[in-house]
Amino acid sequence: MDKNKKGFITQSLHTPYPKKDAYNALHMPVYDGVAYEFESAESIAEVFSGKTVAHAYSRTSNPTVEYFEHKMKTVTGAHAVVALASGMAAISNVLISLVENGGNIVASNHLFGHSYALLNQTLPSLGIEVRFADMTNLEDVQNTTDDKTRVYFFETITNPQLEIVDIEALSKLAKSNNIVVVTDSTVTPPYVFDSKKFGVDIEVMSTTKFISGGAAAFGGVIVDNGLFDWSLLPALHSWTEKFNKNAMVARVRKEVFRHLGGTMTAHTAHFMNLGLDIMPLRIDRCVENCIALSAFFENHPKVKAYSYPGVSSHKSYELAKKQFAAKPGAVMSFDLEDKEDCFKFYNRLKLIRRATNLNDNKTLIIHPESTIYAEFSEAEKEEMGIRSTMLRLSVGIEDVKDLLKDFDQALDF
Ligand code: PLP
Repeated sequence: MDKNKKGFITQSLHTPYPKKDAYNALHMPVYDGVAYEFESAESIAEVFSGKTVAHAYSRTSNPTVEYFEHKMKTVTGAHAVVALASGMAAISNVLISLVENGGNIVASNHLFGHSYALLNQTLPSLGIEVRFADMTNLEDVQNTTDDKTRVYFFETITNPQLEIVDIEALSKLAKSNNIVVVTDSTVTPPYVFDSKKFGVDIEVMSTTKFISGGAAAFGGVIVDNGLFDWSLLPALHSWTEKFNKNAMVARVRKEVFRHLGGTMTAHTAHFMNLGLDIMPLRIDRCVENCIALSAFFENHPKVKAYSYPGVSSHKSYELAKKQFAAKPGAVMSFDLEDKEDCFKFYNRLKLIRRATNLNDNKTLIIHPESTIYAEFSEAEKEEMGIRSTMLRLSVGIEDVKDLLKDFDQALDF
């Protein structure tokens, strides 16, 4: 470990501004304007031709958003970071940028519902083939891969199944075939997960969750760890000639993101800048709460099964410890006898909120089968491991005694 490396919170709080603020503001101000003026015809022409870099129009870059990108770069040690309007914008923009028409993606068969639909419907309609595999099984991944495979895409911890991929092993397989490893680490953001260490080329995150300060605003980021040689990828051949190591980010910024318009606003970036600073405090508290709740669920006669990767009963506990610094997020699941019992319990809760988000500061609960997966067929639900007996919990930062009291009374029927 590097003894001189500052801690996460220190780095986040003290990331220098890219440019000195005109008023010496201690917090990065919200630069809410759309356009920026230039002193001469020459200076504006230089920016548009790429000779110099300056903000010109906030759909493509903005000082408050740029500062958030800088903070993310500082805490991850990444080569480059692009912030976008939402997690889905980050995922769609990066996948479209990496795969040419005729290329394919091998993706986990267990994904957040909208990511699954993007891969199953939207990308194939653009000529990008998608093959689903069990990413926890390297043989299955290998058998699904061919010479047109450009990307492996998976979530660090699947939700709500809570399965964990051996990321180092998958990255090794990818490297031997020049395939880009893209992981959605929304539920294990930097502070608990050092993606570079495990060979991940690109990390995408919905910053809507932990990073925004407890689900306060929509956002997403694409993090390029600088590990992949972009000249090996057909979709980036022409970009590499001009931009070399920055080819992926250049294509995102100058083509896909600019043209699809999924811009993060300055107000949103302000939330992200504040939220990132104190994220470790919130995650530590959430993990403590998850461990206490696990002990409660384990011993409750009405709970037929429960799952949290931060306790030894989870089948991937050792892997979770290694990959996520023993802090594997704050999503848990548990099963009751049947769907009727799930609904009865769910309706008896007084403090815990029925809602579909993750990593809010408040504890949230949802019955995935009747909500997030309602549009999926029975066969798809079975393939995705969605049981009607299962509830998903996103654990917040409340005082754990109050959470335990609410669960206890709601299960007393
Ligand atoms: N990835 C995961 C794992 C998610 O849970 C979500 C949303 O719940 C997303 C991506 C999409 O993020 P957003 O809602 O910010 O578009």
